[in-house]
Amino acid sequence: MKIFLDGDLVEEHEAKVSVFDHGLLYGDGVFEGTRVYNGRVAFLDEHIDRLFESAKVIDLTIGMTKEEIKAATLETCKANNIKNGYIRHVVTRGVGTLGLNPYLCEKASVIIIAADIQLYPADLYENGMKIITAGTIRNIPEAVNPRVKSLNYLNNIMAKIEAINAGVMECLMLNPQGYVAEASGDNVFVVKGNKLITPASWCGGLEGITRNKVMELGTELGFEVSETVMTRYEIWTADEAFLTGTAAEVISVVELDKRTIGEGVPGPITKKLVEAYRQFVNNNGVPIE
Ligand code: PMP
Repeated sequence: MKIFLDGDLVEEHEAKVSVFDHGLLYGDGVFEGTRVYNGRVAFLDEHIDRLFESAKVIDLTIGMTKEEIKAATLETCKANNIKNGYIRHVVTRGVGTLGLNPYLCEKASVIIIAADIQLYPADLYENGMKIITAGTIRNIPEAVNPRVKSLNYLNNIMAKIEAINAGVMECLMLNPQGYVAEASGDNVFVVKGNKLITPASWCGGLEGITRNKVMELGTELGFEVSETVMTRYEIWTADEAFLTGTAAEVISVVELDKRTIGEGVPGPITKKLVEAYRQFVNNNGVPIE
């Protein structure tokens, strides 16, 4: 596998970063996860825009333009002959000292990995997921805003540990006020009648690119789509619930905290959105060739 590292495509075993990189020392950096479908990169502009926004919030100068990153992304996919897969962009603060001062790091490191995708097991798509509410709350926006896709994902990893130890693969994360923020690596939606609701980003979640597309598709399909403040009440009493994410796409949630949601099987509206989303990503995107 060839990895893009600081301007060059290098072999995987040569793709190494320094132990003094602040990405390693402090989780000081940002990242993105993007999909490739049928030789086309889905939502490339949106992911690069979010990468730059995340970088801006942590005052990180990427050192490449958006156009350069896009070109490097396509080049990395091409070099690895990726037709369907997953791209990881990582921008670290770069090599610095053992102290915190990020301004002593001379140059950001830009890494692009184009690889296979690890999906949830097929039976979860067929039968829906069971999730729990994690005790670990989502970071408050006044700390590292959850809208920043930073290299410090410990908050989400702590929640994921709870999920795995409870025998499920995802979990709901609440904000400090007890409102629903998102899942540990996905956004959350609820269906009630003709309404499709999802927590507003300011409630403390990442503004997902899949989420935004699903809101658009939902509107086109005639649903009343809104961003709201949501408690677990809305999920427990929903007709349907589902998660969205670049890797997960759209996946039904049939149980939260051992309480059945709706009929306990993937509902018709979720299925409709799964189809509409797949249809969209399989027919759009930036061609690699
Ligand atoms: N929330 C979190 C915490 C995430 O890490 C992700 C992406 N992996 C999402 C939501 C979904 O965002 P997107 O649709 O842009 O992948």
